[in-house]
Amino acid sequence: MGPLGHCAVGLAAKPAARKVPLGILLLAALILDILAISFGLAGIEGGKAGNPWTHGLFMSVIWSLAAGLLSAHLYAEYRAGVVVGLVVFSHWVLDLISHPIPFSSFSWRTWHWDFGHPMPPGLPLLFGGSPKVGLGLYNSISAAEATAIELGMLAVGAALYVRYSVKKKEARLS
Ligand SMILES: [Zn+2]
Repeated sequence: MGPLGHCAVGLAAKPAARKVPLGILLLAALILDILAISFGLAGIEGGKAGNPWTHGLFMSVIWSLAAGLLSAHLYAEYRAGVVVGLVVFSHWVLDLISHPIPFSSFSWRTWHWDFGHPMPPGLPLLFGGSPKVGLGLYNSISAAEATAIELGMLAVGAALYVRYSVKKKEARLS
């Protein structure tokens, strides 16, 4: 899934994690992709090797636990840790639903991709050589439809966040 859909989860999670700043929740929602880009640049994964260190099920659970423990410690709150951990793991679940994405055939100019050829699933369960999964939603709908889904998710996430902020302000005023 793209960054907009992931950010929607970060926004929607804010009411559940009052102590955690919104920026941290957005970072948590995107951290697996940020790690994937960094690890790709460092030559640790990417290309033919795939993304087992950032988008494998096993390592996604490890990253989620690590982020959860760190947040529980930083914010001195069990709840903050649970929410941040779940937000990190939501990335893998959304990618499971949407991947494989035919991004290699995407044109920014026409906002179109070709999904005619069957693409193999790309999310490993463990490490290199393990079975790969991916339900392939984005490989069966158009790029415009995928964008519409993500904008819709973002709108819902933003609405939940705004509702929470308004309530918080009202509570402070009264
Ligand atoms: Zn991802």
